[in-house]
Amino acid sequence: MRRVCTFPEYKTSNIPVKFKPASKFEAFILNRSTIFQKSFKGDAHSLSYVVLAVKAGRIYTPNSLIRNGIIVLENGKISYVGDDFDKAKDATILKFDDGICTPGFIDVHVHGGGGYDFADGSLEAFSEVCRYHVRGGTTSLLATILSSPIDYTLKILEAFKRSFNASKDGAEILGLHLEGPFLNPDMHGAHPVELLQTPSRELVEAFLNYTDIIKRITIAPEVSGGVEAVKAFSSKNVIVSIGHSNAPYEVVDKAYNAGLRHTTHLYNALGVSFKRGAYRVPGALESILALGGIMAEIIADGRHVHPILIHLAVKAKGFRRLCLVTDAMRAAGMSDGVYKLGSNAYGSNAIVKDGVSYTVDMRSFASTTISMVDTVRFMKSIGYPTRIALLMASTIPAKLLDISSRKGFLAPGFDGDLVVLDREFKVLLTTVRGRVVYAENRDFLGLS
Ligand SMILES: [Zn+2]
Repeated sequence: MRRVCTFPEYKTSNIPVKFKPASKFEAFILNRSTIFQKSFKGDAHSLSYVVLAVKAGRIYTPNSLIRNGIIVLENGKISYVGDDFDKAKDATILKFDDGICTPGFIDVHVHGGGGYDFADGSLEAFSEVCRYHVRGGTTSLLATILSSPIDYTLKILEAFKRSFNASKDGAEILGLHLEGPFLNPDMHGAHPVELLQTPSRELVEAFLNYTDIIKRITIAPEVSGGVEAVKAFSSKNVIVSIGHSNAPYEVVDKAYNAGLRHTTHLYNALGVSFKRGAYRVPGALESILALGGIMAEIIADGRHVHPILIHLAVKAKGFRRLCLVTDAMRAAGMSDGVYKLGSNAYGSNAIVKDGVSYTVDMRSFASTTISMVDTVRFMKSIGYPTRIALLMASTIPAKLLDISSRKGFLAPGFDGDLVVLDREFKVLLTTVRGRVVYAENRDFLGLS
């Protein structure tokens, strides 16, 4: 059996890979987890020599599949991927002979988990949500804020600026995703309709002061000033996503030309084709499917979207333009009950029954309680190959966020973000920047 099989897409030769060791100070900050201290070489002042290796039965890089391979993590980065075990001779080796190793999952749409919501705006909330989601294999994410009063959102932005990635044992926050408030009131879904706004120049300017941390904003381009707002944000390198929208084709096309690049939960809260007189014209959904340059995300939880619709999206756009997201809320990892989607102060109530989150009238879903690994497992269950499902959860979102030179691949020089799954796609191990942040069974640790 060939141990290394290379897939045609994503040739490593296209990826700039240069291994740059972190400074000793950075290594100290990155590596202070107690689990990781098992692999310290030398004294506490030489932490930059810490080496950890993960051995797995199958490693999806994901441009190749390596059987019985090893990944060496040093100073927060990957220093080796392959089947030469000599490269790990100085490392503490964590062995997962039946394990599937993949780049860490990148969730570009997540509100909360473990009882907290990013919109709570506190340091504790940021840390706890990130700590919760490593259990599901998420290694980095966009902290998503539900529509909130403008003053409150600005306060969150300030708080977020101060405490960016305060937690060192959770997923890395890559930036913020404002889901609203510039949405169409007719398509508000679980967003409090009274909090939606039209994007006046003044409001847009207020948010533009924070484009160093706002990485993405969801806008309904058909609202008054919508296309101008798309242009204003995209010109500042904020990824603009169409969502909670019933824009007709002409408006979607204008927004596309103004810089629209992504779609918020494809099929959910998006208008469909309609009749203009006797003539049937494309709605937001068909326009997005038709415009090849627009990427999209899917809540692949087996509830929000029928598998046939997922197949249709893959046919129309190709899996290289589709990301898997959780859109999870604070009830993820909690028992059934009533929870706030969004902040405790301004969010909407959601009823969680049998682990499924509904609006209070129980007629719609309100966010989810899933993890990224659940979306991968679901894609497998409806017929997608493991590699494609893993790509849609890691490599493609990295491409969307324009960080695919450092995340979304297992290759030397890339961040040490990886996940090991068992055969049933249960998470066994998660590392973020080379640190073990989650281990399902601590007995796995220290076996070398
Ligand atoms: Zn959302």
